[in-house]
Amino acid sequence: MNNLPSLTAVLKAHDLFAKKGLGQHFLLDLNLTDKIARLAAPHDFIAEIGPGPGGLTRSLLNANTKQVVVVEKDPRFLPVLQQIANVADDRLTIIEGDALKIDLAALSDVRPMRVCANLPYNVGTKLVINWLSANPIFWDRMVIMLQKEVAERLAAKPSTKAYGRLAVLAQSVAQTHIAFEVPASAFTPPPKVDSAVIVLDILPQDKRYPDLKLLARITASAFGQRRKMLRKSLKPLAKDFSIEVEDWLDAAEIEHSLRPETLEIHKFHALANVIRDKTRDK
Ligand code: SAM
Repeated sequence: MNNLPSLTAVLKAHDLFAKKGLGQHFLLDLNLTDKIARLAAPHDFIAEIGPGPGGLTRSLLNANTKQVVVVEKDPRFLPVLQQIANVADDRLTIIEGDALKIDLAALSDVRPMRVCANLPYNVGTKLVINWLSANPIFWDRMVIMLQKEVAERLAAKPSTKAYGRLAVLAQSVAQTHIAFEVPASAFTPPPKVDSAVIVLDILPQDKRYPDLKLLARITASAFGQRRKMLRKSLKPLAKDFSIEVEDWLDAAEIEHSLRPETLEIHKFHALANVIRDKTRDK
C-alpha cells in the first residue's frame, strides 16, 4: 500500500477531474484519511461508499481492516481502485454501482459491519437515513463525513437551532457525536461549505425505537412547521390517523402549546407509541 503513487499523481496519471454532479470533492491528504479511518478501523468488515481515488480506502486497509468493500458510482475510478486491490492481499472488493440502490446488508454475512464514507452531499442525508432505518440493523458504527450543517443536525439536542427531524431519527437508534470538523480547504476541489465527521454508534437493541418510518412521518409533520404549536402542526397527520390532535397529545402527555424544537426525543416516541397502540387495538 505504501508503494502506491500519491493520490495527486494518480489523479493526474488517469486524467481524473472532479464531476460536480456526483458531489466529487476529494481528500488527498492521507494523514486526514488516516484520522477518519481510525474511527472505524480495524474491523472485520467495512463498507466504504464513494471511494473516488481511494484515499480513505487506503487508510482503512492500512489500519488492518480484514475486508473492505467499496461502492463507487463513477466507473472512471475503477482502474485506480483496482491498483489498490492489487496490493491489498484480497482484502478489497470493488463494486461499481449506485449506493442508493445497493443493499449494504447483502454485501457480507459479517455482523455487525461498519460503514465509513466521505459522502457526496447530494445523496448523503438520504443514504444515512436508509442505513438508520435498516431492519434489522446490520452495522454497529457509521463514520461519515458530511456537510457540517447536516452533521450538526444529526447530533443536535432539543431546544437548539439544529434540532429537528434528523436528530430525532438518528438518535432514536444511535448515539451520535461529531468527531471533528474539516474545513472546505481540505478538499480538492474545495466545496462551498465546511464538513464534519460524525460517528453514529448503534444503541443497544432495547434502547432503539423500532418504527423509524412512523417517526419519520410524525417528525416531518411536526418540524414541517417548526414555529407552530404541536396542536396546529400535527393536526393534518392526526386526521390521517383518525385521532383528534388534542387526544393524541394528551395520550402522549404533551402540552398542546409546545413547539417541536423543545420536545425531547422520548416524547416523539410517546407520540408514535399512541399510534402504534391504536393500530394494534384494531
Ligand atoms: N472518498 C473519496 C475521498 O474522500 O476523496 C471521494 C469522496 S467524494 C465527496 C464522493 C464520492 O462518491 C465520489 O467518488 C462520487 O463519484 C461517489 N458517488 C457519488 N454518488 C454516488 C452514489 N450514488 N453511489 C456511490 N458512489 C457515489
